[in-house]
Amino acid sequence: MPWGIVMAYSFASASEFNEILDIGAARRTLEEQSGLLCRVGELFVTHRMETVACLVLMHRHYELADGERLVRYPSGKSVAIRPSKDLDNLVPCSWCLRRGQWTAYEYSASQSTSPGLKEQSSLILAGDLFLRELKERLVDTETAGLFGLTCLSLGHEGLDVFPTNKTAIVETTDIKRRIGFFTSWDTGSNHAPAPSCWSFIASTRDQVAARVVRSCVDCDRAPVLKPVPLIL
Ligand SMILES: [Zn+2]
Repeated sequence: MPWGIVMAYSFASASEFNEILDIGAARRTLEEQSGLLCRVGELFVTHRMETVACLVLMHRHYELADGERLVRYPSGKSVAIRPSKDLDNLVPCSWCLRRGQWTAYEYSASQSTSPGLKEQSSLILAGDLFLRELKERLVDTETAGLFGLTCLSLGHEGLDVFPTNKTAIVETTDIKRRIGFFTSWDTGSNHAPAPSCWSFIASTRDQVAARVVRSCVDCDRAPVLKPVPLIL
């Protein structure tokens, strides 16, 4: 099995996943800590991981039961994210620190995952020095519970829409059905989605700049949202 490392990086139980902050708490904490974004992000550039990985605001929209994992199912028109008990053929795509160890908290269904995303997942898992220094930086800045790591291509993986000047890629969630999905979002809309994922590029004078890859819209707060068709 090519993705055997998945098990070594998994949560021990659903309760570990459920310790992740909900979106409201994560947003409030980020507002207090936003100055740290580029300080953490500079490691992506110094380790040349900026085209592979991005920093994610750790948050959850619902709880998992034991035996469930959060799995993404790209389907061409949309990406569904839902709990699954089918633990075979998963590609880990997002990680956070739990008990001092990088731990996968989100996966992509292998059969519908692009070769590009599989490669990014492998490169991240092989980046020992990057993972070690990023862990140290998150611990030093007391943001280990706030930030995680995800594959860059998840910003629009499986979608036929891409960010433009007028549209952003957002994630939104049907909490009752415990299904999230990615879609495009009119940036001129009244409801501003909250940034939830950033990539980094080298800027001037040894500085890095953060670019929002994805934002999060809370369905309850944005009833006007019209997602692209969801195909499961
Ligand atoms: Zn979200």
